[in-house]
Amino acid sequence: MRKSLLMLFSLLVAISLIPVAGFAARTTYVTIGTGGVTGVYYPTGGAIAKMVNNKRKEYNLRATVESTGGSVFNLNAMSVGDLEFGIVQSDRQYQAYNGLGEWEGKPFTKLRAVFSIHPELVTILAGADKNIKTVADLKGQVVNIGAPGTGQRGNALDLFEALGMEPDKDFKSEGLKPAESAGMLQDGRIDAYFYTVGHPNGSIKEAVAGVRKVNFVAVPEDITSKLVNKYSFYAAADIPVALYPGVVNDVDVPTYGVKATLCTSADVPDDVVYAITKEVFENFEEFKTLHPAYASLTKKQMLDGLSAPIHPGAMKYYKEAGLK
Ligand code: GLU
Repeated sequence: MRKSLLMLFSLLVAISLIPVAGFAARTTYVTIGTGGVTGVYYPTGGAIAKMVNNKRKEYNLRATVESTGGSVFNLNAMSVGDLEFGIVQSDRQYQAYNGLGEWEGKPFTKLRAVFSIHPELVTILAGADKNIKTVADLKGQVVNIGAPGTGQRGNALDLFEALGMEPDKDFKSEGLKPAESAGMLQDGRIDAYFYTVGHPNGSIKEAVAGVRKVNFVAVPEDITSKLVNKYSFYAAADIPVALYPGVVNDVDVPTYGVKATLCTSADVPDDVVYAITKEVFENFEEFKTLHPAYASLTKKQMLDGLSAPIHPGAMKYYKEAGLK
């Protein structure tokens, strides 16, 4: 009796160990923080996740995508381990790693770069009835500079500093989420809004397609030079108006821009970062079809705009592929 009980017990122990042995192959879940659902980050996160999830059996890895407040939110969430990956503007990547701007005195030293993606332009849209042609005309208007957590808020504040204008002194500032901006502009609740985003994108198309006529606001060359001289991460660029039929402007609009980048933390294992990097690069042609903002992307360009150290998992792939 005793012996058979012992045998039964050993059998139960053995059975219970089977799933434990299978544990090593358990799926790892990672989350990619993006931006508002009407931006380009959200579908970009989806495109990256799709590439790696196609091979989830091989890597035992599953990527999920989360809509978030944007670059600054993603950086802060990665720094405390709430997100494994985040899409962030190259300028905020630089500041976070180097402890500048919002990260003054608290650098995110474990921040690691994976690759860069599409260009993003500081885009300012205004109600045409307000006659806001260039950024100096924002004086006295109601301007959505972006919610805290977004990348555009920092870009707007840098611009107003260069212009010598102060929020809530020279104009009334709002801090609305990007998904609300187009509707608020159409409803006349705001006169203009900032959105640092890849082109083309749905939210700007929505703003342009409404009853209220809208125009892009130009950043004059001298202001852009001032910004580029002070902040090496900015570059002059033009908004291609042909992408937005119905917008009042008939020539491309000068502004400045950055790049969207995929970042992670040094705490995320090399094999996870390697898998994501490899799948995006090895399926590059398919990846490029997933959003029109990637139209002119090249593999080589995807290593530009990275100011935090490249994560060793990504570097392993770049070495293998001869990209580094
Ligand atoms: N650049 C924006 C930000 O950092 C997000 C743009 C997008 O969602 O495509 O907040």
